[in-house]
Amino acid sequence: MIAIEPIQMVDLKTQYHRLKSDIDEAIQQCLHQGDYINGHYVREFQQDLAHFLRVSRVVTCANGTDALQLALMGLGLKPGDEVIVPAFSYVATAEVIALLGLTPVWADVDPLTFNLTADQVERVITPRTKAVIPVHLFGQCVDMTPLLNLAKSNGLAVVEDTAQALGSEYRLSDGNLQAAGTLGDIGCTSFFPSKNLGCYGDGGALFTNQEALGERLRMIANHGQRQKYVHELVGVNSRLDTLQAAILTVKLKHLKEFSQQRQQAAARYDQGLQNIPGLQIPTQATYSTHVYHQYTLKVAAGLRDGLKAHLSKHGVPSMVYYPIPLHQQPAYQSSRYPKNSFPIAEALCQEVLSLPMHTELNSDVQGLICSLIGDYMTQQIKSA
Ligand SMILES: *Cc1c(COP(=O)(O)O)cnc(C)c1O
Repeated sequence: MIAIEPIQMVDLKTQYHRLKSDIDEAIQQCLHQGDYINGHYVREFQQDLAHFLRVSRVVTCANGTDALQLALMGLGLKPGDEVIVPAFSYVATAEVIALLGLTPVWADVDPLTFNLTADQVERVITPRTKAVIPVHLFGQCVDMTPLLNLAKSNGLAVVEDTAQALGSEYRLSDGNLQAAGTLGDIGCTSFFPSKNLGCYGDGGALFTNQEALGERLRMIANHGQRQKYVHELVGVNSRLDTLQAAILTVKLKHLKEFSQQRQQAAARYDQGLQNIPGLQIPTQATYSTHVYHQYTLKVAAGLRDGLKAHLSKHGVPSMVYYPIPLHQQPAYQSSRYPKNSFPIAEALCQEVLSLPMHTELNSDVQGLICSLIGDYMTQQIKSA
């Protein structure tokens, strides 16, 4: 009898079995050396990632949310300072702003790429704005050149949230590619297991090309000390475990191949879904490569939840990233932001649907998913 594996949003188990001998060996090395905190692999991984991203400094930390918090601490922002973030994103980006006593200010996004744009950011800049956090959502870069110009002319720091786009590259006006997370002042990322470069627990990192800032970030992540027991800054304890660094050192060598596997899976979905009525397949921007952290459809008004239920009934998982815009979350809503404050973000929350996406997808499974979607949408639109 053939055991049929259920279809999953993300398949980390199969990927592990493909890399098992190298990963097991790296883990064993840490155990044999009794190397648990700030060990050999942490230094090696920081160097390897700096080389991969072509950036001068990488500082690892405990998770992606900490990376964002450390970045804002490193910039020395003060309570009351405003930081602009997309209204359509994961909550972590906004959370750390509020935690530090800063004020999150939302901006609407582009309806095709789902990303922040310079035009939308410009509308919400005030004299108190000190920084902007572009989130490279779902695996492709925000259009950074206009945003960096806007930030420069308004004296804003730029912190890139690269948690979903590690390995993606931005196309500069001269045609050269530059890694996501290395264009602004600081880039932040997460190594949460389901991210494109994931470890087997929590992990995160910051990157910068500014040496003094890099040193400050390293100190803040380590209780504000440069020298043991001399605390020059108020810091936190945010470390990447040596075991996780060992796993990441192995997996980083495969990140290019992982991105290609995701791109191939996305191309198969595009092929299978492009002519289905009532669907919009992901838009690939000209200024960025796409590493498909998510493959996210836009579904015609009112049909999204029905499509999700139809897929689920046939054993196909799908997810709504994200169902509620940040300005309407209970913890963040305020009378400053009535309904329709950010119409694009609000509409996207009703329309988006992310399909299974990972490095182990095959054309049989994707063919099944596409035909289920085709059947449902064609029938719904015919009967409307
Ligand atoms: C995952 C994620 C984070 C947070 O990362 P953690 O490691 O889970 O703290 C932040 N921003 C975005 C956009 C993310 O997707």
